[in-house]
Amino acid sequence: MGLVQKKLLMPTNQGSIRKVPFALDIRQMPNRRWGNNRGISTCLADGRIEAEIPVPANRAMRLSELAFVLLGLSTEMGAAAEKEMDRQGHKISCRKGCGACCRQFVPVSPAEAWMIAELLQSMPEPVRAKYVERFEKIEARLTEEGFIDRLIGLKSAPNPEEEMRAMARDYFALQLPCAFLEEESCSIYAARPTICREFFVISPAENCSSPHTSPIEGPMLPFHLNVALSRLCYELLGGGRYMIPLSLALWWTKRTEKQRALAFDGAFLIERLQALAQEVIDEEAGKQMGATELDAAKSAADKEF
Ligand code: SF4
Repeated sequence: MGLVQKKLLMPTNQGSIRKVPFALDIRQMPNRRWGNNRGISTCLADGRIEAEIPVPANRAMRLSELAFVLLGLSTEMGAAAEKEMDRQGHKISCRKGCGACCRQFVPVSPAEAWMIAELLQSMPEPVRAKYVERFEKIEARLTEEGFIDRLIGLKSAPNPEEEMRAMARDYFALQLPCAFLEEESCSIYAARPTICREFFVISPAENCSSPHTSPIEGPMLPFHLNVALSRLCYELLGGGRYMIPLSLALWWTKRTEKQRALAFDGAFLIERLQALAQEVIDEEAGKQMGATELDAAKSAADKEF
């Protein structure tokens, strides 16, 4: 997997990340293929991804369920990025058995933190207990290091993004392997969160052991699903808009049980997610192009339709 919520975790010398162009078209798919946790997503030749996301037709949907059914789309986004790197002649350096980036902060949205907690709940013993013990050990260490207080304090930090970057560096310095890392491989590969699917590098693999001082090169997607999902959670439930480290998913879930249990209309969730994904894409494009240029590009696009 990897780090990279790009605004929050990009090491200072990551100047050469390449942008992968694609737009996203997400539609809900009520009552079809619900239960196998797979939607249909298609990576089109022009770089767009079309995705149909299954939502329950006769009942409301929890955000953790939404996170779960979005995993296929996230895989598709990673695959689109990989394809683009390949097209540009770059080789992916990530290899099975290299878990360097699984010692990162690994930012997940609240919905994914709940998804992970529910995944653990569904595991048979003694597998569940083994993972829970690892989560508890990491939580104890992070408490000892003052990391949890810093995370709670983020809401009122004068510069939350800067503090988040500092936290990502400090977290990596602790070299705490993800609770799901076994023999340097992911033991929940099929259920790994979105950022683990959307991140890979083309720079030398050894650089990932010192990502805050060595050049890391990889694709920059127009947005990451964890960011859009995170915005959706905070839009619906309020809160400080920060990402949660994967390793604190259980800690977070204990604090937010009431919010985890809330359910919403699935079609509404997909509609808002699509809008928020677009908001992130526009913000990123605005940063690249400058606001005036973006407005001009948008009005030119409007005229075309
Ligand atoms: S979930 Fe898997 S891929 Fe993601 S950080 Fe943990 S071990 Fe690595």
